[in-house]
This record gives sequence, C-alpha cells and structure tokens, in this order.
Amino acid sequence: MTIKTRFAPSPTGYLHVGGARTALFSWLYAKKKGGKFILRIEDTDLERSTQASVDAIFDGMSWLGLTHDEGPFYQTQRFDRYREVIQQLLDQGDAYYCTCTREELDQLREQQKANKEKPRYNGKCKDAKHTEGVIRFKNPVDGEVVINDLVKGDIVVANKELDDLIIARSDGTPTYNLTVVVDDLDMGISHVIRGDDHINNTPRQINILKALGAELPKYAHVPMILGSDGARLSKRHGAVSVMQYRDDGFLPDALLNYLLRLGWSHGDQEIFSVDEMIELFELEGCNVSASTFNPEKLLWLNHQYIMHDEPEYVAKHLVWHMHKQGIDISNGPDLVEVVKAQRERSKTLVEMATASHYFYQEFEAYDEKAAKKNFKEGSDKVLQTLMDGFSKTNDWNGEKLHQIVLDTAEAMELKLGKVAQPLRVAISGAGVSPAIDVTLSLLGREKTLKRMEKAIEFIKQKLDK
Ligand code: GLU
Repeated sequence: MTIKTRFAPSPTGYLHVGGARTALFSWLYAKKKGGKFILRIEDTDLERSTQASVDAIFDGMSWLGLTHDEGPFYQTQRFDRYREVIQQLLDQGDAYYCTCTREELDQLREQQKANKEKPRYNGKCKDAKHTEGVIRFKNPVDGEVVINDLVKGDIVVANKELDDLIIARSDGTPTYNLTVVVDDLDMGISHVIRGDDHINNTPRQINILKALGAELPKYAHVPMILGSDGARLSKRHGAVSVMQYRDDGFLPDALLNYLLRLGWSHGDQEIFSVDEMIELFELEGCNVSASTFNPEKLLWLNHQYIMHDEPEYVAKHLVWHMHKQGIDISNGPDLVEVVKAQRERSKTLVEMATASHYFYQEFEAYDEKAAKKNFKEGSDKVLQTLMDGFSKTNDWNGEKLHQIVLDTAEAMELKLGKVAQPLRVAISGAGVSPAIDVTLSLLGREKTLKRMEKAIEFIKQKLDK
C-alpha cells in the first residue's frame, strides 16, 4: 500500500501552530514510510476563504520546510466532481432532497425526541419536489461505526446517534463532510491525520465512504494544543501564527522540534534533528490528551538550536532579519562568523541581529549607562595607547589583538577590565559584545580605528564640559 497523508487547511486565517503541528505529523509520517504528502486547500467557504490566507499557508509551510509531493489541490476547482458523487448517492438512494424549513425541522426534532426516535427527515421530505432544498445523506439507522484510531484507540459510535447530515446546500454547493470524503477517496489518502476537533465528523465520513463502496483510510486524531489557562490555544495566549514566530526570531527547526514534542515523545529526548524526527516518528508515540503550549520552553529550545545548529544554517535565517532591520551585510564580516560570536547570548535571531548592527554600520549613540561607566578621566589615554598598539600591527587577528590589550593593561598598570571595557564601548557602542578579541577581528582594522578615534574625541569633549 502506498502511504499518502494530507494537510487540508481551510484558508480562513494565518497558519497557526495547531495546524502546523498537524501538518508536521502528516508530513513526518509520509516521509518515514516513504510515502507522499499532499497539500489540499479547503476553500469551499467562499465567504471566509481569502487569497491572503492561502498565501499565508504556503509561506508558513515553506518556511517550516514542510514540502508537499502533490498539490496544492483546491476544492473550489472540484465542484463538478462533488456534484457527480452527490448525484451518485442520490441515484443509489443513499441521499435525498429535503425541503423542510428550519422551523419544520425543529418541530420534527422535538417530536422525534419526545417519541425517543432518532432524528430523521425522510418522512417529511419524501414527497418534496426535487427542485430546491438541501440534500441529506441517508445515514444507516442500525448498527455502529467503529473508528480504529491510531492515536486514541477504538471509538464506537452508534448509528442512531448520527443524523442525516446535509451534503449539499440549497444552492447546490457541497458541504465539508462530503468534499473531504470525495477528496480523501480520489486522492488515495491512506492515513487521515488531523486534529481531534474533527472526531465527530469521522463516523459520518466513514458512513459516506462505505456508501461509496470505498476502502476506509486509517485515522489518527491528534489532541488539541491548549494555552496555559487550559483553554484552546488562541491569539489571546500570545503568538499563534507560524509566521509570527519567524518574525520574532525563531528558527523553523526549533519550532518544528517544539511542535513535535508537544504531542509526541520518544523517551525523554528533547532535541531532534529533522532527520531524527523522520526516523523515530510513530503515530503510536502521540499523546492521547491535549498538551499545553509553553512559550518559555520554545524559547529555550530556540536558543539550543541557535547555539548548536550549523552556523551556516543559522546565518541563512539571520540574513532575513538583518535585511528586515535594514542592515546591509555586504559591508562587514561574514555572517557565519557573527553567528559563532553571538550565539551564546542570543535566544532569538531578532536579538542576534539587533546586537550585530555595529559590525555593518555606524551606531548612532553610545549606550548611556555604558558610556557613563567606562568613558571617564583617563579613558581617552587608554584608548589612545591601545590605538597606537593596534595601528602598528600588520596582522589583524584575534590572538594578536588580545595580546595588545593585555600588554596595554600591564604597561598602564590597569586591570584588564579597565582597558577592555572602554574599548568595547568605543567600538560597539554598548557594554556587552562578544569577547573583545573576537569583536575586534570581526570589525576589522578600519572600522575599529575610526571608532576609537571618535570615542577619544567624545571623551575629551565630555571631560571639557
Ligand atoms: N479543512 C479542515 C480544517 O481546516 C480540515 C479537514 C480535515 O483535516 O479533514 O479544519
């Protein structure tokens, strides 16, 4: 059997982390089994679906690296096929027109409830003219539906609990349960992996599939993601859009890793490369109950990735942030070296980018506190002595420069900090930066000497006042 999974978002908003996790599980399962992953845009709700949301889904999926093997398919392009299947169900006697008004239906429901009958509208609709009205699926009256859910185990639903659901609205447009069934069938989906908010739809979909004589896919319903207050994760819990995490400086692999662990485990391992995820993922390892989104843990994980991932990979994503912050990175050190220098102290790429501007462009002003503390009586002299040393050296490398800083401190009988700190503020504008030798070598001779000169001027003027 060919394994085929799908991600089937409705384009009615951004790609949120809940959807991304469902997509990840489907993608991982297909990858792991050497199968195919399909992207299907469920855009039949014409009022709520927008092109902007479709684009947001593509952007999110592509940023996460969750590439599809087939599609994207659009349900709005498949109306003819849905109509054909609806007609087939009508012809087979598995569907019927229903022209009851809302009020009539409510009345009928009340009546049936009082008689302890299952909700069913056939009686009333039998004689209706087949020109208008919705089309309902004739759900079996007896027996039960068993879902052998790969995450939740067996779920049994009695048919008498299921009503005759609408499969086409009075304007002829098909409804969600019908379109999903037809698509899953036509696209050869072997495993339907989706959020457990769809679990009530599953027995209905199974019954339609059976009426069509189709082989059933396997189902895996993954639990919801909750906010810290136990409510379903939503905007009020903070960022829930995948692209917001990109904007906030997260690495896609860190977010994937976090989403994977949020709902799946493998012993107590926390960090998984994407290759490891593919190798180790099993639906059986999925949590049965909902998990709580923990932004601190995601931030911790992001820092782990920034520190331990290939610096080239981190740099690739850092470029985007540097551009966004308006920094021209052609005028300065190799970004890979900047990553190596900054990764210990940067929990996000936004932090890393912000803290790296001075390698590429002049800073506007000294950090006030740092300047106050380090630009004092005598600091100009320290900087001048360092500058003399730096100017003389021909090899601008960390080791050499570090030695000059040490020698200067010794010659001036100052503690190392009294020399290195004014230097740091002079060249970076701030009181924190990577190790001074690293900062100097990344910055290069020209920028360093120019900034030291400027700082000496600044200190002199300040002391004159
Ligand atoms: N379009 C549905 C949604 O976005 C998903 C349908 C499915 O996975 O079966 O909730």
